[in-house]
Parts: sequence; structure tokens; C-alpha cells
Amino acid sequence: MGKENNSQEKVIQIAGSITVDELANALGLTVTTLIGQLFKEGIVATINQRLDYDTASIIIDELGITGVRLEKKNSATQISHERRELSDKAVLRPPVVAVMGHVDHGKTTLLDTLLNKKTVEDEAGGITQHISAYQLEHDGRKITFLDTPGHEAFAAIRQHGAMLTDIVVIVVAADDGVKPQTVEAIKFAQGANAKIIVAINKIDREGADVPRTMADLAQHGLQPEEWGGDITMVPISAKMNQNLDKLLDMILLIADMEELKADVEIPAEGLVIESHMEIGKGSVVNLLVTGGELKTGEFIVAGSTYAKIRTMVDFKGRPKGKATPSTPVTVTGFKELPDFGDRFVEVKDEKTARKMALLNAASLADASASANVTSTDLLRMMNTADNSKVFNVLIKGDVLGSVTSVVDSLKMIDTKGEITLNIVATGVGDVTENDVYMATGENTVIYGFNVTVPTNIAKMAARDNVPIRCFRVIYELLDDAKHSMEELLDAEIVEEEMGEMKVEGVFRTEKTSIIAGGEMLRGKVAAKMLAKVVRGKEELGEVEVESVQKERIDVNELVAGEVGGLALKTDHKINLAISDRLKFFTREQKRRTL
Ligand code: GDP
Repeated sequence: MGKENNSQEKVIQIAGSITVDELANALGLTVTTLIGQLFKEGIVATINQRLDYDTASIIIDELGITGVRLEKKNSATQISHERRELSDKAVLRPPVVAVMGHVDHGKTTLLDTLLNKKTVEDEAGGITQHISAYQLEHDGRKITFLDTPGHEAFAAIRQHGAMLTDIVVIVVAADDGVKPQTVEAIKFAQGANAKIIVAINKIDREGADVPRTMADLAQHGLQPEEWGGDITMVPISAKMNQNLDKLLDMILLIADMEELKADVEIPAEGLVIESHMEIGKGSVVNLLVTGGELKTGEFIVAGSTYAKIRTMVDFKGRPKGKATPSTPVTVTGFKELPDFGDRFVEVKDEKTARKMALLNAASLADASASANVTSTDLLRMMNTADNSKVFNVLIKGDVLGSVTSVVDSLKMIDTKGEITLNIVATGVGDVTENDVYMATGENTVIYGFNVTVPTNIAKMAARDNVPIRCFRVIYELLDDAKHSMEELLDAEIVEEEMGEMKVEGVFRTEKTSIIAGGEMLRGKVAAKMLAKVVRGKEELGEVEVESVQKERIDVNELVAGEVGGLALKTDHKINLAISDRLKFFTREQKRRTL
């Protein structure tokens, strides 16, 4: 093998997911090594199991492999989430600003005051209409504000690789200082490569201490301009409408410095920032246009769904015939609800739209169905080494009696002391937003018995990876719970002896591969089998059979009495010698049942 150039990274491209076999090959490892490592992390994997990008990265880290870089590859049908290169015809566009910060530090108040309206006014007829983006004018120029449901949502967008926000306004209460969500917001903004402006809020309060808040921020890496740093910090009172013009001035100043532009002479494109169903209207979807000009009557594709835009209105509900870059609009006409963070693109006709949506649906289904080990599973197992045997459930039932009987029946499942059932919460009624919140992040399953799940809740749960499973028959619910618990049980490793070869010739030995030949003493050998290399009584290591040849022709197997050659794969150099024995076997990891 040639000399390795350390500065040259090997790039492995992953489109959605990669099989254990493919990853092992790409890394030059044996499948056994990889499966072994996965197993150490608590994941029972087979050779054909698919791993998602993050899992593959974690495994590579854990194995301490350097010089390899994983790269996400978009499949041909997927819409790119990267921001496009601009042409020289690009025109200036309004900045897209997100307001973030710790709870109660005044984000809502700031947005409300800026828009000079109160949230109550939005709750016409008791229907809370969440508006996810606004545009306001300052000095005759537009600024787009995003009001996001939470940082997770932003994280979702970031995951898609899109840089949605140009500027993040971090709101910090001057009487409270930097708090955990402030730190999170700083990290988000830095991760998203957005410019940061700090609004030091509540300066009207008695306990407000602007210099101390600045010092606090400086400690967290944000150096105020006043102190020679590069972060603009504006003391404001969102409630008293103090200094908000200055904040807007600063936003525009930064926008000017950044020269934010977009192409308009291209098919319209942008992101889905919210979607829900409304009676009488069907799907109602909020979009942020990032390029081109969106018009009613046009066809757009987002993920696995598409729309002929029936109606388009601005954030105040006024009809809009055309939306230019950085404009948030609400449209109707989608066949099905697209997902938050989905990128949309305009296409020429319905036929193309339908075809692209179908292709996207197929590739999405492929990616999710086939990535049967996700990083969430992996992290969960890694983080909860001893704790992984806890099965968390949240139970909702139609009446108290059914909740009680579900709980009692679940407790009666015999887990042989290996799994602990943890009932996070129980309640009567449909599954709610709060249930999903409670179940988020804790690997909790929500069981519904004789209840329903409103569409928006189902979407939210899907976004946050919270499984909701509803049943009308109790033993089906119990079966499901039992299966879920079985999945938490450690697997059993089963090895089966397959055959033995006496080595009679070694033709090539490299760091990770051996070509050798010999006579089959018993049983058989076939590709993908594993073999123990045995010299006398000593075991030298394990190899994997890559291919089998007889008289230089590839064959499926060699059986007792036959002579042939083998290509073997190893993960460390083994100096195979004549008279060594190869003891072939298969290794499977079997799930256990309760
Ligand atoms: P959010 O959780 O960050 O959206 O915070 P809110 O906007 O809901 O504000 C939390 C509380 O702080 C509310 O009671 C507001 O009235 C109050 N508040 C927000 N901004 C100011 C301010 O500038 N001055 C004072 N005194 N109170 C404020």
C-alpha cells in the first residue's frame, strides 16, 4: 500500500443511510469489528442494517478513526436545502430576524410592542392563531421577524442545512442576566452563522443593571462594542417602548453591512415555517420566500406534497398576489400538510409537481424506513448505559377507569426483573401538546386508549420524535408495550460452526486483507462467514471471508474435501501461515423475548 497522506481525508458520502456492510467496506474494517463496536454501544445490528448519518459519525468517533469525513449526500430527487449561490442579478432583500432568549425575558412583549398589537387581538373568536412570521417597516424599509415555536424548531431547520435567519436578536433581561436559554440562543446563532444583536431588556425595572448584564454576556463570549468587542447591545424596555427604534436601526445597519441579497429571476423557493389544517380552508401553510417571486396559481413542491397556490395572504391576512424574497406569506392549496423546515420550490406544472412529490415521498420513506438505527437510539443507549432498561410511558384514556386498567395491566407484564416500567404521567382526554412536551427527550411512548390525537399534535409529535400509539383494544396495547420492552432487552449472540480449512498456501498478506488457499477439512465455507485463525492451540484473530474461489473462479462455497482459495478481510495484520486452520462460523445477534 502507498504511503498515507495524513492531510488527505477520505470522504464517505451518505445518502440518507448506509448499511453496516457498506460502512465497514468504506472504512476498510471487517463487518465483525463494526458490529462489535455497535454492540458495545448497545446496538444489535446485522450486516444489512442501515445506520443514519449521525450514528455512523458517532461510531467512527468511538472507534477513534481519523482521516475520514462523512458527507451527507442529497439524493437526486431531494430538494437541496443549501442556500443557493447568488447571480449578479441578485437584489437586496429585507433581513430575516429571529428573536430568542430565556423564558420571561420579554421576547413576546418585544414582538408585540414592535407590531404595536396585543396577542389577545389575534385570538379572535377564541381561536388562537399563531402567526409565525411578521414583517414591519422602519425608515421605509422592511424587516422580517420570525416567531418560532421553540429552539427545537430552529434546530430542525439548521439540520436541513438552511440558513434561514440572518440576524438573531437575543433578549436578555437586565434584572436577570444570562440564563440557560440565553446560552442556548447564543450557541444557536453562532451555529447558524447568524449575526447577533443583544437587546438588554427591562431597563425600566428597578433591579436592572445594564453593565452587569454586559459583563455577564462578555463572560459568555459576546463582547459589547462599547468595550471594544463586535456585538451590538441595545438597552431597551419592550414594555415601555423605550429604545426600540434604536434596535431597529441597528438591525438595518447590520443588514446593510451584510448586503443581504436574493435572486428574483429564478423559480420561487423558500421554506415551510408552519402548517396546520383549518376547517373550510384545508391546509394552511406559512412560507418564507427566500428566492424568486411566488404568485397565486403557481405550483410548488415541498417534501412529499405539492400545491397549486389557491390563496396567498400576508401576515395580516391581506391578499397578496406576489411575494418577493424574505416575505412571509400564508398559502392554501397544499394537497397534504408539508413539514416544518421543508424547502419548497416552484415547478412548471402539476405533472412535474406530482412527480417530484412522489419521488420525494419514495426517497423519504426509503431513508426513514431503512435507517433502522438512528442516532437518537444510539445516544439514548450510550447515555443511559445502566438506565437503558427503563420503559417510559405516558398514558391517556377516555375515562379514568380505562386509564387505571391500562396502568394495572402494564404493571402486570412480567419483565423478569429486567425492565422497569416508568409511568411518566397519566390523564383523561385526548393527547395534548403538553403530553408531547412531557414525552419529549425522555424516550417516552404515549399510549392512548380510546382517545384521539388532533392532527397538529400528531405533527408536533412526529417532529419531536415522540411515538404516540392509540388503541381501542387493551390486549393490543399490551402486546405493543411488551414488544417495546423486548426491544430494550440485551440481545443474545449466537455463533454457529460452519466448517474448517487447512491453509496450504498464503498468496498475499496486507494490513487488512489476505489471499490464501487450502483444503476444506469439514463443513463448508461461503462469503460473509467469519473465521477464527488458529495456530496449534493459539487463536490469532478473526477474519471475514470476502470471496471464495475454486480453480480461480468465484464460487458460492467450498465443501469438505474441496480445495480452493479465499479472499479474507481483517482489521489488523495477521501473518497467516501454512498449516494454520481457519475455523468458519456465523455470528448472529438474536433478540430475546419476554
Ligand atoms: P417571553 O417568555 O420571553 O416571551 O417573555 P414575555 O414577553 O412573556 O415577558 C415576560 C414578563 O416580563 C411579562 O410579564 C412582561 O410584561 C414582562 N416584561 C417584558 N418586557 C418588559 C420590560 O421591558 N419591562 C418590564 N418591566 N417588564 C417586561
